[in-house]
Amino acid sequence: MRIAIIGLGLIGGSIGLGLKRCNVEGLTCQVIGISRREETIQAAIDRGAIDEGTTDLKLGVKDADLVFICTPISLIIPTLKTIVPALKQGAIVTDVASTKGLIVAQAEKLTPKGCFFVGGHPMAGKEKVKLEAAEADLFKGATWVLTPTDNTDKNALETVAEYVALLGGKVMKMEPKLHDLVVAGISHMPLAVAAALVNTIAEAKEGQAEMKKTAASGFRDTTRVASGDPILGVDMFTTNKAAVLKMIVAFKASLSNLEKVIKDGNAERIKAELEKAKSLRDSIYG
Ligand code: NAP
Repeated sequence: MRIAIIGLGLIGGSIGLGLKRCNVEGLTCQVIGISRREETIQAAIDRGAIDEGTTDLKLGVKDADLVFICTPISLIIPTLKTIVPALKQGAIVTDVASTKGLIVAQAEKLTPKGCFFVGGHPMAGKEKVKLEAAEADLFKGATWVLTPTDNTDKNALETVAEYVALLGGKVMKMEPKLHDLVVAGISHMPLAVAAALVNTIAEAKEGQAEMKKTAASGFRDTTRVASGDPILGVDMFTTNKAAVLKMIVAFKASLSNLEKVIKDGNAERIKAELEKAKSLRDSIYG
């Protein structure tokens, strides 16, 4: 297998490191890295994440059997448009973007006959990005959502699933629209809420200096995701607008409900709200 990885950051670099480790364990695949900068390619070779690299997208994918597009979300489709004329017959393209509806719909239109597209999203990551943060074990035990549609080729889907499993990921299949609602709830809303909470303090007319000085672990844990790369956040909110807006409406209703019970001063009802939250959270994280 000749496997091309476009975008050698946290996710692309980790895929490369994982595949190269599989090579050591007996699988034989040639990994070609494609990046916009020579320094990144050299760094990826030095880290052992790729066998060879190029800054030329078309050249990089020319003979590839499988292509992982691991660029920022807003560049997935422009990248696909560029590589499409260079793909060989039978080539399978997958991506790792955190939103799927728009990407899968456009990718299916762009993918030429005889080539295949399978949408994907590894549910693994960390605040630190770029190649330096990449690790071979990033996907170990992590859910990796694949988002087939009625148009998805079954063999291509199974091939991508096999490579996800080789990287240690657990495949979960979900239609793109459901995926986007799910990530709006568990990933994009936490960012929206964390950012709104921090901004509430940023705009506080009274006590702001004292809040900043006294903020401890509760505030830090609740707002951790607000320290992520704002560019990734912009991409999430713009490419998953409908689902995020739907969840914001639901969140406002939930917050209003809490406001009401606090206003009423009914300890039993406040307790019931907090117990409902504790019970669901504990069922997820134990
Ligand atoms: P990253 O570490 O910042 O890597 C992004 C890669 O894209 C880098 O190789 C970078 O090149 C390249 N790139 C950035 N801007 C570019 C531009 N304008 N033109 C061409 N190339 C550009 O980001 P990442 O965390 O790996 O995220 C990549 C994808 O994975 C995104 O679609 C994201 O939604 C998805 N994802 C991320 C996470 C996460 O937790 N981070 C989790 C799941 C999925 P240089 O190295 O040359 O800068």
